[in-house]
Amino acid sequence: MKIVLASRNKHKIGELQALLGKHVEGVEILSLDDVGFTDEIVEDGSSFEENALIKARAAASTGYIGVGDDSGLSVNALGGAPGIYSARYAGEHGDDAANNTLLLENLKDKSDRSAEFVCAFACVFPDGREICVRGATAGVIIDEYRGNGGFGYDPLFLYEPMGKTFSEMSAEEKNSISHRGKAIEAFAEKLLTI
Ligand code: IMP
Repeated sequence: MKIVLASRNKHKIGELQALLGKHVEGVEILSLDDVGFTDEIVEDGSSFEENALIKARAAASTGYIGVGDDSGLSVNALGGAPGIYSARYAGEHGDDAANNTLLLENLKDKSDRSAEFVCAFACVFPDGREICVRGATAGVIIDEYRGNGGFGYDPLFLYEPMGKTFSEMSAEEKNSISHRGKAIEAFAEKLLTI
């Protein structure tokens, strides 16, 4: 079974191959580059689910099963921000340091530090069927950076059951409890019933 992930990021392709391959035998994840898809995908949805579906539909336009994911951090004291704008919270896309600095600045006077990472994972089949699942992991935003691994908001996101930030976890530990790991697992379960 060949599935096109709406991404050009080799790390994301490998991660999905490993996580989905554990559950679904004979699955092969292809990137947009592998199938010669060159259009820009405009992610203008107003929720994680809408953006994941926009990406999955674009990937499915190649004729293969298309999948897309969208994730981010939702902080309760900030009304769910940065949410779907997580990658460009401070302005420039992908500036993790600036995003983390702004997050701490906006939380300076807040006592409620609860937050969750969310991942929506969508799949569109060549016959037009669409499915979308969600994974979420709750944690708290701490004031100092802890750990060297991961990316994005990982060093500030403390997962209390393990007493570690996402940055302090191995990839296996993070995958076992992360929003993305849960969403991919939920997707694998659905895929096996179809
Ligand atoms: P994407 O949809 O997976 O590209 O994620 C969008 C943005 O959300 C990233 O650029 C990060 O800022 C944030 N984010 C999503 N997942 C994670 C995670 O596992 N750790 C830290 N930050 C994340």
